[in-house]
Amino acid sequence: MKYPFMTNRQINIPYLLKIGNGKIAKIGKYLFDKDMTEIAIFWGEGMQSLFGEKFYTGLKEHNIIISHEQTVNDIAIEQITTTAFSLSANVKAIIGLGGGKALDYAKYAAYLLRIPYISVPSSTSNDGFCSPSCSLTVNGARKTVKSSIPYGVVIDLDIIEKCPPIFIYSGVGDMFSKVSALWDWKQAFLKGYERYNDFASMLSYNSLDILFLRHSSNIYAPQFQRSLVNSLLYSGIAMEIAGTSRPASGSEHLISHALDKIAKRPQMHGLQVGVASYLCAMLQNNPFANGLKEVFTQIGFFDFVAKNPLNKSEFIEALRIAPSIKNNYYTILSEPDSFEKAIKLIENDEILKKLII
Ligand SMILES: [Zn+2]
Repeated sequence: MKYPFMTNRQINIPYLLKIGNGKIAKIGKYLFDKDMTEIAIFWGEGMQSLFGEKFYTGLKEHNIIISHEQTVNDIAIEQITTTAFSLSANVKAIIGLGGGKALDYAKYAAYLLRIPYISVPSSTSNDGFCSPSCSLTVNGARKTVKSSIPYGVVIDLDIIEKCPPIFIYSGVGDMFSKVSALWDWKQAFLKGYERYNDFASMLSYNSLDILFLRHSSNIYAPQFQRSLVNSLLYSGIAMEIAGTSRPASGSEHLISHALDKIAKRPQMHGLQVGVASYLCAMLQNNPFANGLKEVFTQIGFFDFVAKNPLNKSEFIEALRIAPSIKNNYYTILSEPDSFEKAIKLIENDEILKKLII
């Protein structure tokens, strides 16, 4: 199949990008500098009491008005739409501060109003803080909904560094899952099923290099945290440029989505995709499979997952339904012999035997 050139499509990039210690207190200044004098903020649960004081003080110093604020616990698209269109017309930007729900709520509200969204994640457990889509409930079911990449990303390392290891390992798993996702994308393109974008692919590969090459193997080292944040950001931009989640999501994400559907207690997104990516990379004979194995071993990802392994019968069931999660979506799991090969690997691979029990 031939695809036309994509022209005249607007590609957004984050214009405000701040990573460092004590950044929450500086948000007021950043807003002032961009002439965003009135804002709405959506807090994750418990975030306002933890970070409100620093945030409010910074805003007060620069006379920024908060005309709406609320804590997010429900992400029904209907509710977000009502809230968004009831905001004052003077609101110049929307801020989301917290985990996935608060960020997605704020991201979608800003997308509806076509005003800037500033993402302030309380953890980097997945690439959602800078991706061009959000996960909302539509008619009661969880759905990925298109939106736009944030105008601004503010990462306060004081917060990220205090996150329990599970959040960091989850971020690492989501990040490295590009190894299998990029392979799936290229193959889908070569078979004529998908449009490919060399630049987005290059960015995504570079985002992996940042972690493969420059990281310290200590997940708590500030240098590692910075690299992780950088990598996740690059991958968000790659998705924006490609106009699809393909640069960051493939077979491994299908398995994780399937697990979310059927598992009694699904594990954190990045842990599931990290394990699935290791398996899928082997199915693919992926040239980076060994690199992935080395890094995951070095930084302790496998040991961490092995402490609370995935359930084997659920994982196998997820493998069975994964290819049908998305229509017309080629991945290595579309190959007829992949399922049997995957079962063999789960039974025999020394590492997988500890992760999927
Ligand atoms: Zn992901």
